[in-house]
Amino acid sequence: MAKKSNDAEMHCSFCGRSSTQAGQLAAGITGYICKDCAQLATEMFSEYPAGSNKRPQRSVSETLGEIPKPIAIKQHLDQYVIGQEAAKRILSVAVYNHYKRLKYNAEHGDANEVEIEKSNIVMVGETGTGKTLLARTIARMLKVPFCIADATTLTEAGYVGDDVENVLVRLLHAANNDVAEAERGIVFIDEIDKIARKSESTSITRDVSGEGVQQALLKLLEGADVGVPPEGGRKHPEQKLTQINTRNILFICGGAFDGIERVISARLNSNAIGFKGDELRQELDRENMLQYVQPMDIKKFGLIPELVGRFPVLTYLEPLDREALRRILTEPKNALTKQYVELFKMDGVELKIDPEVLDMVVDRAVEYHLGARGLRSIMEEIMTDLMFNLPDMPSGSTFTLTREIAESQLKQKK
Ligand code: ADP
Repeated sequence: MAKKSNDAEMHCSFCGRSSTQAGQLAAGITGYICKDCAQLATEMFSEYPAGSNKRPQRSVSETLGEIPKPIAIKQHLDQYVIGQEAAKRILSVAVYNHYKRLKYNAEHGDANEVEIEKSNIVMVGETGTGKTLLARTIARMLKVPFCIADATTLTEAGYVGDDVENVLVRLLHAANNDVAEAERGIVFIDEIDKIARKSESTSITRDVSGEGVQQALLKLLEGADVGVPPEGGRKHPEQKLTQINTRNILFICGGAFDGIERVISARLNSNAIGFKGDELRQELDRENMLQYVQPMDIKKFGLIPELVGRFPVLTYLEPLDREALRRILTEPKNALTKQYVELFKMDGVELKIDPEVLDMVVDRAVEYHLGARGLRSIMEEIMTDLMFNLPDMPSGSTFTLTREIAESQLKQKK
């Protein structure tokens, strides 16, 4: 490639800048390229090296062919998530509608007769009851890019913390930097309740941490072109931004909304005054008030009305009782106990776990109040030392994990 220097009339064929603006240009047969454009091209090609299969899988039935029906989505969820019937049904329909909407828009273009609105979702439920698991399992089934963001780390632009746009950077990375892929992905925002305003009426003394972030999130949820720094971090003026349109990104938010039961209860009690009030009050299932959650309750909890309005789908997760916790240990396709059995099998050892061990693990998880999240750490405590010695166990042998062994492992950690 010839160097063209001292030629102020040459222009880069890619960005159009002259050699005085862009510096030295390299010449090809029919055009020129500047250093910046050459660098950009190098970066672009290095993301998808020739022959690489790094491109994300294109599903949602090979990009909006046949969209899995709600029943199929629910059946898939059943393989991984125990219980949570209401949330599964509502999510299945919402996700089905979301991708039908994408298909409708793709087929009708701008000539849409009916604008089908997006079905962003809020899930209310204690920690460790399966909110993230549900969102992740759906994304995996549909083979769309998926990322998780924690609302507590987000701040308004200009404050210390993560800019809200960085949520999209993560999605872009999950899509292997393919913008079109990212634009039909799913974002799960955890702990959305933590950015609630302290009270519904604090509009004068605005609370920056909460309301500002809610306002910033609103922009993403509404569907906008958002410029994101491809590598993440803070935006700065000279930086090249990647434009991502959020119109077709599905946002699923989760939160424990600690104390929302009281809000729900107060609403139901005041509704129940008067005619048939007592009957209504008696019919309520006081053990699980979350099942009655309504948009007005999360608003009362401190989410701004505009944001609540952007989440047309609201559902709840039930607290996990002992039976559910026990089933979680053994039943899902990738249940914890199944994972350990596989790990042992790789060393030629058959692992058997006495049912009493499972009861003990469930007892402890209930004690820790961590939902199913506690199961994993308790099982790890029991299994770590055993797995340390596993490679020395004779191949072809059987190892039975009894309650005594499990208890002695836990005691050692105290
Ligand atoms: P949340 O988002 O509600 O705080 P997660 O979905 O992250 O909770 O759950 C933590 C872990 O607990 C999951 O990875 C999964 O292993 C297990 N888990 C939680 N709920 C369920 C459930 N309903 N069925 C099966 N596993 C579950």
